[in-house]
Amino acid sequence: MKIIMLGAPGAGKGTQAKLIAEKYHIPHVSTGDIFRANIKNGTELGMEAKKYMDQGLLVPDQLTVKILLDRVAQEDCRNGYVLDGFPRTIPQAEVLDEALNKLGESIDYAINVDVPDENIVRRMSGRRACLKCGATYHIEHVPPKKEGICDVCGSGLVLRDDDKPETVQNRLKVYHEQTQPLIDFYTAKGVLRTVDGTQDMQDVFRAIMEIL
Ligand code: ADP
Ligand code: AMP
Repeated sequence: MKIIMLGAPGAGKGTQAKLIAEKYHIPHVSTGDIFRANIKNGTELGMEAKKYMDQGLLVPDQLTVKILLDRVAQEDCRNGYVLDGFPRTIPQAEVLDEALNKLGESIDYAINVDVPDENIVRRMSGRRACLKCGATYHIEHVPPKKEGICDVCGSGLVLRDDDKPETVQNRLKVYHEQTQPLIDFYTAKGVLRTVDGTQDMQDVFRAIMEIL
């Protein structure tokens, strides 16, 4: 099964993608996580991506697309995957479509996690991330067992640089301009499903399970 998660930054795409990946035993592929791992390791790609990420801008398509296509070509993606944060532009979606067409494959579902802008800034300022294993928490809604420490790997949790309120406003603007058009793109393909992302995270997951 090939699934795309759509939604504003902070809507809960990553949270739900992890639950779906666990349930269906398919990889959770997050371009944001791949970029953050590269930044942490000081690679050339990471340094290039950071310039854009810190401003709340999108990393250019030609960089992002290559990384994603390499990742989904790996053996563990043979039975499907859940994409979180990709595609984020129409050109990215077109390249993915073309690559899948060549293999005689297509996306099964694009799940749009719908959360109004008013809720987003609060979600993002409370988000805490583990840069080592990619786990995500929220200081109120999804707190770690021990404050500031990742339940999964024991590393320290951080407020992402791009989750500061001024950057979040930029990311929302970029989302509306460049990513939201994907809702029409996948509606036209007949695979778009929308869930109310303002519900409790287990209720959002239940709604997604009904769709899948
Ligand atoms: P995205 O991947 O879309 O950027 P995340 O999954 O990282 O979003 O979620 C953003 C923040 O909101 C995180 O701190 C997460 O723990 C929290 N969160 C996710 N889903 C919900 C929910 N249904 N209700 C409340 N908080 C949530
Ligand atoms: P995320 O972890 O999905 O919130 O992504 C964090 C940041 O990484 C985004 O704000 C972008 O700067 C960059 N990024 C992640 N995925 C993409 C993508 N598909 N296209 C362009 N930039 C991306």
